[in-house]
Amino acid sequence: MTTTAAERRTTERIPVATIANGHTLDLVVHTIEGDAEGPRLGLIAGIHGDEPLGVETVRRFVDELGSFRGRLVVMPVANPYAFQALTRNTPLDMNNLNRVFPGARDGMLTEQLAATIVETLLPRIDYLVDFHSGGNLATVDYVYLHDQSGLAEAFGCEILFRGPSYEGSLGDYARSNGVPTVVSELGGGQQRNEHYVQKGVRGTLNVMRKLDMLDGEPEVPERQVVLDEMVVLRPHEGGLMLSNVDATRLGEQVPRDFELARIVNPYTFETLERITAPYDPTLLVLVREPVTKVDPGDYGFILANGATAKPV
Ligand SMILES: [Zn+2]
Repeated sequence: MTTTAAERRTTERIPVATIANGHTLDLVVHTIEGDAEGPRLGLIAGIHGDEPLGVETVRRFVDELGSFRGRLVVMPVANPYAFQALTRNTPLDMNNLNRVFPGARDGMLTEQLAATIVETLLPRIDYLVDFHSGGNLATVDYVYLHDQSGLAEAFGCEILFRGPSYEGSLGDYARSNGVPTVVSELGGGQQRNEHYVQKGVRGTLNVMRKLDMLDGEPEVPERQVVLDEMVVLRPHEGGLMLSNVDATRLGEQVPRDFELARIVNPYTFETLERITAPYDPTLLVLVREPVTKVDPGDYGFILANGATAKPV
């Protein structure tokens, strides 16, 4: 009788620190053995606490997976206090976990988390998928292309971004230590949740097919493009952002100077800023719904230069 991966897992709690409230902060790691020899694949989500879609994607993946070759090592929530508060950064020290790798055992709490992840996850795996999304108010759809492993292409997003990787991110550190890493950016903003969970599950199955942990070839979309030029458009002004492009428009192109959004002062109703498309054409990679609160310097949009798009 075949069993699901969820039924074959062993679960550990790795202590990080005692919190002043008396609770122990620990990280939960599942190990799931396959039916035959094969590579060791790590899955991690929740490095940013305001990205619960990745957490659910990992849970769903483990819940639905049947037999495979190799081993899975799964950390579903990498920053539990940030997840609890739905914040990008760790509430206790306000640091961004994905900028402090490899961390430090005697550093700030966020650095202690990073060090624990580096010590307990990386030695156990050959490859890694790191799940991210657009946070509480934005929706995103792409995957980073940062190494030659072929895994990012196999993951199956339509848009691959070959820009520099952030120093201090887990992906950057893992790759520099010989662990090819796929960093997916899917969903967020509570838009199209089921669509993006399924896309992330399919992407992870594709990675396992590429690594011969599963039979078959990766199922990738007909059109995939690699982009070299992308901008995070951060508004100068805060207030209400009234966007003209919602999550159903992700992957579409708009002409240069198209008005993507305006920011209005919710107190005086005056328009503070207009955000227009910078490229011709501009490809929509991260967008917000028609009405969201925005702070100066927030992730307003991620936009790619459609003219730089090359086939995979
Ligand atoms: Zn993230």
